[in-house]
Amino acid sequence: MLPMAFTPRITPNSSESTLPSFLFLFSGSDILIRRSDAHPEIPITADLPGLALRTVYFGSLHGRSCYAAELNGGLPACPSLSMVGLRQLYGRLPDQTYQAAGYGRQVAQWDGDHQYCGRCGRPMQNKADERAKICSGCAAVVFPRISPAVIMAVLRDNRILLARSTRFKKSRMFSVLAGYVEVGETLEACVRREVKEEVDIDVRNIRYFGSQPWHYSSALMVGFTAEYAGGEIAPDLTEIAEAGWFTADDLPDIPGWGSIARQLIDWFAEGGRNKRKGSR
Ligand SMILES: [Zn+2]
Repeated sequence: MLPMAFTPRITPNSSESTLPSFLFLFSGSDILIRRSDAHPEIPITADLPGLALRTVYFGSLHGRSCYAAELNGGLPACPSLSMVGLRQLYGRLPDQTYQAAGYGRQVAQWDGDHQYCGRCGRPMQNKADERAKICSGCAAVVFPRISPAVIMAVLRDNRILLARSTRFKKSRMFSVLAGYVEVGETLEACVRREVKEEVDIDVRNIRYFGSQPWHYSSALMVGFTAEYAGGEIAPDLTEIAEAGWFTADDLPDIPGWGSIARQLIDWFAEGGRNKRKGSR
């Protein structure tokens, strides 16, 4: 097999050392890119000489080592390098590169958040055999945090429930409902609770649809479909500004291509008959 795909690893494989390494450098949700003929590229470590960074190895892309780091301080002025929101690069970077960038962001953030033990305060060290850190004092182990969240298409006859978030003050975009899973809760119970809390609707016949890692918030979005079971829409006005039932030929502004929210809405618009799509 050609070494094209992104392969997560915890230590570099010996064949990677002969090629320049990629540097995935993050500042919040932005990533550093090199512009080359209008196409964004991931810089190599040699593009940023002398920058003091704590880098973490996280895998191999096109047979090259991938390192991630968080920028702490300014970036050297260089016209070909710029910071861009990671989400804006969806569809502009090759899929494998985008996947590596999302993975790298989560690893870099986790690495930065766990330099010291949350239990005893001593330095943490990388575990040699898995993506985890172990405390040099009390041996506490921490793994990268993934927060499960549910996202659901609620259908009533030939209509879908879509809502507009209070977070998007100027946007008229509507999407399916979503929310984080609470401690001790099943995914199905979370679907029922979130729909009830956000719009006061009861649902039944909850079915798994697919899942998507959501790198921007270290979430794992778990998609479901559900049927309306009762109630009248009453937005909570805290998270949801307005909500309604929409037919496939009368959809409002909806999320862009690439999100599981869009996959759920497309599935509904296609009649909900096609095989449920798997994870991306
Ligand atoms: Zn400790």
